[in-house]
Amino acid sequence: MKYISTRGGVEPKSFEEVVLAGLAADGGLFVPQQLPEFSVEEIASWSGLSYQQLALKIMAPFVGDAVPEKDLQRLIDDAYTGFRHAGVAPLVQTGHNEWIMELFHGPTLAFKDFALQFLGNLLDYILAKRNQKVVVMGATSGDTGSAAIEGCRHCKNLDIFILHPYQRISEVQRRQMTTVLADNIHNLALHGNFDDCQNMVKASFADQSFLPEGRQLVAVNSINWARIMAQIVYYFWASLSLGGPERKVSFSVPTGNFGDIFAGYLAHKMGLPIEQLVIATNQNDILHRCISGNDHSTKPLQQSLAPSMDIMISSNFERLLFDLYQRDGDEVARLMAAAKAGSMKLNDDVLAQARELFSSYRCDDAGMVEIIRDTFAESDYLLDPHTAIGLAAARHCRANQDTPMVTLATAHPAKFPDAVRRAGYPCDPPLPSHMSDLFEREERCTVLDNDSGAVQQFMAENIVS
Ligand SMILES: *Cc1c(COP(=O)(O)O)cnc(C)c1O
Repeated sequence: MKYISTRGGVEPKSFEEVVLAGLAADGGLFVPQQLPEFSVEEIASWSGLSYQQLALKIMAPFVGDAVPEKDLQRLIDDAYTGFRHAGVAPLVQTGHNEWIMELFHGPTLAFKDFALQFLGNLLDYILAKRNQKVVVMGATSGDTGSAAIEGCRHCKNLDIFILHPYQRISEVQRRQMTTVLADNIHNLALHGNFDDCQNMVKASFADQSFLPEGRQLVAVNSINWARIMAQIVYYFWASLSLGGPERKVSFSVPTGNFGDIFAGYLAHKMGLPIEQLVIATNQNDILHRCISGNDHSTKPLQQSLAPSMDIMISSNFERLLFDLYQRDGDEVARLMAAAKAGSMKLNDDVLAQARELFSSYRCDDAGMVEIIRDTFAESDYLLDPHTAIGLAAARHCRANQDTPMVTLATAHPAKFPDAVRRAGYPCDPPLPSHMSDLFEREERCTVLDNDSGAVQQFMAENIVS
């Protein structure tokens, strides 16, 4: 399988190259040249498989001969054995044909573990094979950093440097990163805000001359293709658990960078019968405005109680546009330039086509708090703020009561005590037992000025792998 850029400006690349590359050289994102497609009969034949076995069926065609199947199965098994639920992604019923898929049983209690536990293993495997070592660098405002660190803690062929804004992330989120004490894990707290961290990462990718000879930077944010690929699996999993593929299923997805829901779109294109994909946003609602009213204009970022969805522009939306515009890279480049300059308008027929599958809803902090409170009162089930927004959107957008509607639960409520308390819950929701001593564990972190010379010098001097 080969991969091409959404802006059409690079030669097709191999799976390995794409996993190590991040962005394409023309500024676009990598997508498969051709998607694998499965018949309804073939999907139905997978109904008895474990999550790990199903993951192999779905990922193998994308990986191709980069990893032999026997090895790929081992990488997948290793990725999901650390999940603290035998079902890996269990479903919980919250109403008639209404379900929540719990994606927070991984080590950092958010769905990002699904992709990053696997990506860490995959990177280390590919690097060992190539006899190569790399440096992973990323910025985080919360969930991505901890999931990336957990995913890379056992890797022998890479160092990982994660930048977070000093004293501007929650204590649970900070401790989830800083208490991982492996030598190849480097937490940097930057005097500045999240944008400063992100700009530092961007500048470092643009000029990597500060790295020792032979090293390159690797990105593990959601532009990395392997992350999207790993997320396709649980859409098939949910469908097979609920009577699919003979029966259609719908999904509501709390959305930030559009990575998670784009994986659902790919599942649909690969042959999974999906009736609706609901884009759920908080008050940072650019995607809702785009789908509902063709208004993709940027607005200042608003801090919300569902911070993992606080984005101005969703990077993976570009991957959907590439498809909707018949894979015309020039057209996508033009659209993304318009989006960056402040406003992008879609063609009417493109928008109409998108709306056949996608609908959208915006739920602000007040609406989110209300649904956490009501759901807990009705059924003792405690939602995290992101999942609550997903459930609100599911109920609002649902077209057909006979089709199961699955809301993706993207985080455990203990990660976001502020929102949960705001909903009237009397205390901080308890962390699962394997993390109950988080607040006693030793932390390791280096505080640095917002100065690229200082950060890059620290990195160059502290690589251990
Ligand atoms: C990252 C994240 C999201 C948004 O996912 P995208 O793939 O960026 O759309 C939603 N909820 C939680 C808890 C997250 O960590």
